[in-house]
Amino acid sequence: MTEPTAPCDLSASELGARLRAEEISAVEIWDSCRSRIDAVDERVHAFLTRTDDLAREQAQAADARIAAGDAPGAAGIPLALKDVLSTRGVTTTCGSKILETYVPPYDCTPWERLKADGSVLLGKTNCDEFAMGSSNENSAFGPVHNPWDLDRVPGGSSGGSAAAVAAGEAVWALGTDTGGSVRQPASLSGVVGFKPTYGLISRYGLIAFASSLDTVGTFTRSVRDAAVLLSTIAGKDPMDATSLDEPRRDYTRGLEDAISGLRVGVVKEAFGEGVEPGVRASVQRAVDELSNRGAQVAEASLPHADYALSAYYLIAPSEASSNLARYDGVRYGLRVDGSDSVEMMTKTRGAGFGAEVKRRIMLGTYALSAGYYEAYYGQAQKVRTLIIRDYVAAFGSFDVLVSPTSPTTAFPIGAKVDDPLAMYLNDVFTIPANLSGMPAISIPSGLDGSGLPVGVQLTAPVLAEPTLLRVANALEASLGFDARPALIAA
Ligand code: GLN
Repeated sequence: MTEPTAPCDLSASELGARLRAEEISAVEIWDSCRSRIDAVDERVHAFLTRTDDLAREQAQAADARIAAGDAPGAAGIPLALKDVLSTRGVTTTCGSKILETYVPPYDCTPWERLKADGSVLLGKTNCDEFAMGSSNENSAFGPVHNPWDLDRVPGGSSGGSAAAVAAGEAVWALGTDTGGSVRQPASLSGVVGFKPTYGLISRYGLIAFASSLDTVGTFTRSVRDAAVLLSTIAGKDPMDATSLDEPRRDYTRGLEDAISGLRVGVVKEAFGEGVEPGVRASVQRAVDELSNRGAQVAEASLPHADYALSAYYLIAPSEASSNLARYDGVRYGLRVDGSDSVEMMTKTRGAGFGAEVKRRIMLGTYALSAGYYEAYYGQAQKVRTLIIRDYVAAFGSFDVLVSPTSPTTAFPIGAKVDDPLAMYLNDVFTIPANLSGMPAISIPSGLDGSGLPVGVQLTAPVLAEPTLLRVANALEASLGFDARPALIAA
């Protein structure tokens, strides 16, 4: 047991206020995170790399800056980054043997912006290999353990970032969400997970899995913190051609405005078979709270949502098979020698990639091959368009949509490793927002009968982040979720 209300357990916004009032220093906050990591990470395994020396220097620099009256929202707040986000001079593995020794020569844009605002980097977090997975069990460096129950998964693929924030090892963290990898682990780990509109945050320096879906997202203890973090990292980046032409802005503005009169659609397809009763009950309670706050709640439908998973498992592997072609033993990381270049590449890729990555590369290569391209990849893209149209139609009647984030709470480590389809089903409610590019957020709605966290997901139209965050903030206040994982609870 460790102290449950140490500085490392507070929200970034609370810590920011205390920093500006000079009631606490950035070095003290960092020290609190560092001792929590020392106390629990051997059991949680959220971190692959720790950057203690760098963090101390950054915390000292943040203190000097704050003392001089310059204190942006992220200044002095310790952060963890998923290990698919490039950090100059700091090993970035993507959870893969093939990049075990890779040290990027540049920073990803989100981290560059955070660094410019005085952020403190604690280290790089464990994840499924190349962000492919829903449980973190596909990491080449061993699984992450859920702080709520160490025998269970934290979700994935950004499981290390989720667990680090849940266990008080980091105050907030970044992850990536291609099919749900921020929202689903946030849900299973009892924290706030936010995937903004595709293109709102630059992907420069995010090591690609499926480029048309990959989105940087945030793990925080509150919706307000998500808004603060988004304000720091979002906005046009000339280094990413798909980044949207949006100015940088303050997403905390209007956060506390009332939500009465807003139209909330409850996605009927997301309450069917396969949803655990504890999840259903908790999400229903969240829907009732929205209604109590004066929102107009009615049933909504996304008729093609049932096909989203199939479309995703053609589109994402297709893009992955192309993106991962660059790991050839020549340009990055691992190289296993062979008698000629083909043998060298074959051996390198054979030794460097894990089973799930190989499965996806084979699936994607097949779906893109001559003769099958139209039947698989082409069809999947058509389904993607139908899903986008479903959302456009639903947002004609609603401002936000609500559903469970995941059909289940955290499952035992090992329970689904031999059944890829059961694993893939965990993302059935998160994938549609990636296929359509819509912003979506998961916030904790309560605990199920076994004391495990449940997440409720809200989705809004493209670039409607202000509305999405406002509704999430109101719902968070109504739900008053303040449970703590057993690991750190007194
Ligand atoms: N779990 C999904 C997959 O395995 C989503 C992953 C992600 O969002 N990175 O592809």
